[in-house]
Amino acid sequence: MTDPDEAALLAAIIAAPADDTPRLVYADWLQEQAADATCGECDAGRVFGRDVQSLRPAGAWHTCRRCGGSGRLSDGRAGRAEFIRVQCELAALNDRHRRGDATPADAERLEALRRREGQLTMTVYPREIWPTFDWLRGLGINPDACTLDSRGGWIAAVTCDAAVWIAHGDAIRARHPVTAVRLTTAPEVGWVPPAHGRDGYFAFARDPAARRITWAEYRAGCAAHAPPGEPDPSASEYNPDVGVLLACRFGGGVAFEVPPG
Ligand SMILES: [Zn+2]
Repeated sequence: MTDPDEAALLAAIIAAPADDTPRLVYADWLQEQAADATCGECDAGRVFGRDVQSLRPAGAWHTCRRCGGSGRLSDGRAGRAEFIRVQCELAALNDRHRRGDATPADAERLEALRRREGQLTMTVYPREIWPTFDWLRGLGINPDACTLDSRGGWIAAVTCDAAVWIAHGDAIRARHPVTAVRLTTAPEVGWVPPAHGRDGYFAFARDPAARRITWAEYRAGCAAHAPPGEPDPSASEYNPDVGVLLACRFGGGVAFEVPPG
């Protein structure tokens, strides 16, 4: 990403994950940038003998199904803009539905939006509409190793193992307003003892960014997280909560779940 406009718009989205306004501003901007592209499926609008449904003789030229014979296609940006708008409206309607404020007209609209969301992601140009899988592969992440929930056009929640999140969480959060992370494995956490006048600290066993928390921060964090009336969990030398506290170092506003143990 090199476009300064896009960088500023994306920063606004990440700074306010619960606010749809920056997402809709981004969608408007994207729509303004939208252009045509050359059809990659055919040569000047025609396909050689690929239409198996056709009754035309084998080997004949057929009209391209993708571009309808024009040789030109949308570059996908208008579709991505629509996808963002559809998902924002879906999220708002779903919230109303959960609160019990939905009207019969809302239910109809919800159905139509869900259908359109499915069309955009499954049958239009999925790579442009939802460019996430290619992007994850570019980061070196196997998309099959993550479960992603999208809201309002971007990733909202990630389920993956601890190693994937520790290695790539920062990169994901730099481009997506992630608000929830569920780790399927407990992060490996080690205690580094005090040395040379420096406090000891907990750290991920393999943490490229060297995120760490001190014993004092750990105790304070445990006290803040302990349910009222429960014994102070930091009374023991090691507690799996330290993994949660460290994981939370990936940024404010992100709710973490880690498996027990
Ligand atoms: Zn074509």
